[in-house]
Amino acid sequence: MPQRKKGENEDMDKVAIYPGSFDPITYGHIDIVERALEIFDKVIIAIAHNAEKRSLFTVEERLEMVRAVFKDTPNVITDSFKGLLVDYVAKTNAKVILRGLRATSDFEYEFHMASMNRSLNSHLDTLFMMTSKDYFFVSSRTIKEVASLGGAVEGLVPDLVVRRLKEKFKLPVTKQKQIGWDD
Ligand code: ADP
Repeated sequence: MPQRKKGENEDMDKVAIYPGSFDPITYGHIDIVERALEIFDKVIIAIAHNAEKRSLFTVEERLEMVRAVFKDTPNVITDSFKGLLVDYVAKTNAKVILRGLRATSDFEYEFHMASMNRSLNSHLDTLFMMTSKDYFFVSSRTIKEVASLGGAVEGLVPDLVVRRLKEKFKLPVTKQKQIGWDD
């Protein structure tokens, strides 16, 4: 089969949508995106406007951070959406929803969501990628909790996110108290 050059016919691109809150983006998310790029030509990170979830960062702030993280990766597109995910997906050429799985606790919710999305659009599949061993304990929620108490989150989120967290929690940007996970 003749090889197709990247970007030659975008309709034939294998595209995945990675939806979520990304409040804020962590290395757990980034790891999933990087691994997905081995399978897909393009990954669309879709930040959900979710009125029911209290967020630390506005959708605009989250978009800005995700865009900065992937500024040198043109096959990662960052967008936001309101309403049903299946309606947003229909406006793109993606056929797959990408989600990360951490522990069994993620499974039940993810299983329900994937089943519901498939019932809303039977052409749509959800692909789950298992978390990496280095990030199985990393969630945006715990990152926010630890950062709000002055704990170090370096190495778990990109430096620009560390800075934004410190600004939000009004912590000094240079000196941060180191606390253990059991404190
Ligand atoms: P949501 O608010 O929809 O749960 P999140 O922003 O928390 O979205 O996460 C988006 C997706 O990334 C979810 O599928 C979640 O399970 C996954 N994810 C989050 N953190 C990690 C991690 N450390 N390793 C693997 N997947 C993760």
